[in-house]
Amino acid sequence: MIFVLLTHKIKINLKSGEKLMDISASNADHMKQLNRSVVLNVIRNFGPISKVDLAERTKLTFATISNIINELYHSNLIIEDGYGESNGGRKPVLYGLNPNAYFVIGVELGVSQVSAIITNLEAIVVTEYSLNTHFSRKSELVIQQIFDVIDEVIRISGIDYEKIVGIGISCPGPLDLEAGIVMKPPNLVGWENIYLRDLVRDRYNLPTFLEKDANAAALGEKWFGSAKGKENVIFVLADEGIGGGVIYQNRIYRGFNYGGGDIGHGTIDIDGPLCNCGNYGCLEALASGLAIVRRVKEEIRRGVKSKLVDIYESTEEDLTLEIIIESANGGDVLAKNILDEAGRYLGIGTATLINFFNPEVIIIGGSVVNDYDPILKTIEEISCKRAFPYYTKGIKVEKSMLGKRAGLIGAASLVLQSFFDHPNKIIAE
Ligand SMILES: [Zn+2]
Repeated sequence: MIFVLLTHKIKINLKSGEKLMDISASNADHMKQLNRSVVLNVIRNFGPISKVDLAERTKLTFATISNIINELYHSNLIIEDGYGESNGGRKPVLYGLNPNAYFVIGVELGVSQVSAIITNLEAIVVTEYSLNTHFSRKSELVIQQIFDVIDEVIRISGIDYEKIVGIGISCPGPLDLEAGIVMKPPNLVGWENIYLRDLVRDRYNLPTFLEKDANAAALGEKWFGSAKGKENVIFVLADEGIGGGVIYQNRIYRGFNYGGGDIGHGTIDIDGPLCNCGNYGCLEALASGLAIVRRVKEEIRRGVKSKLVDIYESTEEDLTLEIIIESANGGDVLAKNILDEAGRYLGIGTATLINFFNPEVIIIGGSVVNDYDPILKTIEEISCKRAFPYYTKGIKVEKSMLGKRAGLIGAASLVLQSFFDHPNKIIAE
């Protein structure tokens, strides 16, 4: 791995020598911060590692490495972690990340649940807490629930507040990420223009990051899950709604209005059913958790036989996606057929994403696939058959390794990415 460092001075006409010094100083400062981040990330990815190996990997001088190691060590961010092989002299000390030096909070807004986790710097979950919610309630009540969930997860963890470095929030889109606003997600009925990021940031006085759910999940998988080490990744979130997230060259690809990769509202069937977004025949209207439940009910009303008929006739609300998946796993033909149908639609939507972004790996997650493996096979088969053949060569379609926690780990990863990009915020000058 080679890191090119900026050593040139900025060439602009300056009226005073004082300003030239300012700019040179800020340039040097920037480089120092960049080098710290580079060293910390190499330790995080390849540690335990010696100073010599760090210098080799980063192309920084041994003296620079020694200075940075000193700073990181005194900030408690790294620890001495054993000894390496001797090259004739003393065995070199190895340095590793101190994963419990700091902690982050991940928050996920689902259609029917608000959840939070606290993780350490390696995304190991320390505590988790969630509450059932309904977005048709007044938005103030849901926001209060979000605060309650965060308060509780901090309280249960027993972690010092000073050790928490930020809060990441994963939320269905559309979002205005610059202003930190939840716009009007089709599945969070009743929510419109909520300044969620700033509400959370102001209450906890911590750096707070808001991100579209599938993007956050994609980042989580890239850092800690099925896409670890991959540069170009697509995450297809098949949940109550359907979303897509894209990692392009290691970073979330957001697009102009922050909707990059959102396959849920791409039209699959021009004469298809009405979608929550107001359009017809969107992928979400055909293959989401809500669509699967609707399709099973339609088939029951048409007279198709299934174990699910009894549930439908006694209490219609009890006929949930969870029950349908359980029945499919138990061999119920109707449940299996409808899930297979959803899988084929998801495969077609995924094929479009493959053609657009040509990723190395496609991760499929969400409640539609987490507990039902056969659907993954269908998605893989259809997407690889429908996408342009050359683009599918060598790509992998995989189940989310983070599973039900993909959104929450993804939310935590938003903070971790910022933390490892800018460790200088922690290091005392
Ligand atoms: Zn739609």
